[in-house]
Amino acid sequence: MAPHSPLDLADDDPFGPHHLPYGVFSALAEPGGPGRPGGAGRRRIGVRYGDHVLDLGAAAEALGSPHAALLAGPTLNPLLAAGRPVWQAVRAQARAWLTGPEHRRAVAPLLRPLADAALHLPFEVADYVDFYASEHHATNVSTIFRPNAPALPPPWKHLPIGYHGRAGTVVVSGTPVVRPRGQYRGGAAGPVAGPTRRLDFEAEVGFVVGAPSSHGRPVPLTALRDHVFGVCLLNDWSARDVQAWESQPLGPFLGKSFATSVAAWVTPLDALDAARTAPPPRDTPPLPYLDDSAAEPGGLDLALEVAVNGHTVSRPPFSSMYWTAAQQLAHLTANGASLRTGDLFASGTVSGPRPEERGCLLELTWGGREPLRLPGGERTFLEDGDEVTLRATAPGPDGTRLSLGEVTGRVLPALPEGPGADGAA
Ligand code: MN
Repeated sequence: MAPHSPLDLADDDPFGPHHLPYGVFSALAEPGGPGRPGGAGRRRIGVRYGDHVLDLGAAAEALGSPHAALLAGPTLNPLLAAGRPVWQAVRAQARAWLTGPEHRRAVAPLLRPLADAALHLPFEVADYVDFYASEHHATNVSTIFRPNAPALPPPWKHLPIGYHGRAGTVVVSGTPVVRPRGQYRGGAAGPVAGPTRRLDFEAEVGFVVGAPSSHGRPVPLTALRDHVFGVCLLNDWSARDVQAWESQPLGPFLGKSFATSVAAWVTPLDALDAARTAPPPRDTPPLPYLDDSAAEPGGLDLALEVAVNGHTVSRPPFSSMYWTAAQQLAHLTANGASLRTGDLFASGTVSGPRPEERGCLLELTWGGREPLRLPGGERTFLEDGDEVTLRATAPGPDGTRLSLGEVTGRVLPALPEGPGADGAA
């Protein structure tokens, strides 16, 4: 066995042969290219293996895969559209190439250190929906914003509440987030416009739709695996002052649409079989189309972690989510709305029952009333220069663990007001 080959991973590597998440990368030092992060070389589909990325398109070409055409482009969308039997075949092939001794000579040159790769948005986002599926989060938010109202809105335990977000502002991990401007409640003189004073993160899990569905044909909750390709961590950046002023009665609009960050790596749903777990007991029986009592366990035992400037501020458990991805998919198609390849739906903020498991600053600081103490100073909401990173681990097969790709982003100061400000920085 050759020493130091990227093909020789430790058994407990969280990006080992049991994981194999997909992404899109380009070379940082492409011949003839400027070599800057974010777009120098040609974009290629890759599979993460340890701290390397396998050029999957090149491997498929070199090793003669029948699916090479799906893997040759700059996004995952053709693979996503191909459906589950092809996803399984490509995954099995990638695993065989990375672990089979007979493929070492061909595959080793196609592995690139992650340090030499720029990572891009892995798929073209079609429609984006964000849910509100944590009972602990929904209860806390209601209590903070509407202390005299019931803890949960009347429909909350009858359907997974969601809203349509803005697909065009989904950005890949590492993309800076400019502090948005907006309108929010002022003093007696009325509302004011300006940079948000209450910029927040929301720790969430995103589900990436592969195979589309027909218009007019609801997707049953038993069909999750036929349509959802995989999972990625997601930060639903939120301007709380803008959101609080604009949201009654239609829900979030500009308070959320300025940016949503996703991880650069999509973990196939098939890699998370060992993470499946029963959702928390429901005290309100759901209607038949949402009743999962006879289905396979729909929860996922993902252990999330939120860090602000490198300091862990929360550890939200995804296993505590009341509504599952399968129920969310069934609900969002229940009226006949169709799925498109590249649709992204997110879980909603993941908050567990304990204070240290809350998935956003709104809850962690209880509406700004209880500042967090961080090594760099107190925080109620995010300041310019702050960096937020979400990570997660999950059980893999045979006692292994895998790590979802992280999602990180740094807050940049708001742009100056007025026309002509675009590009002034
Ligand atoms: Mn959200």
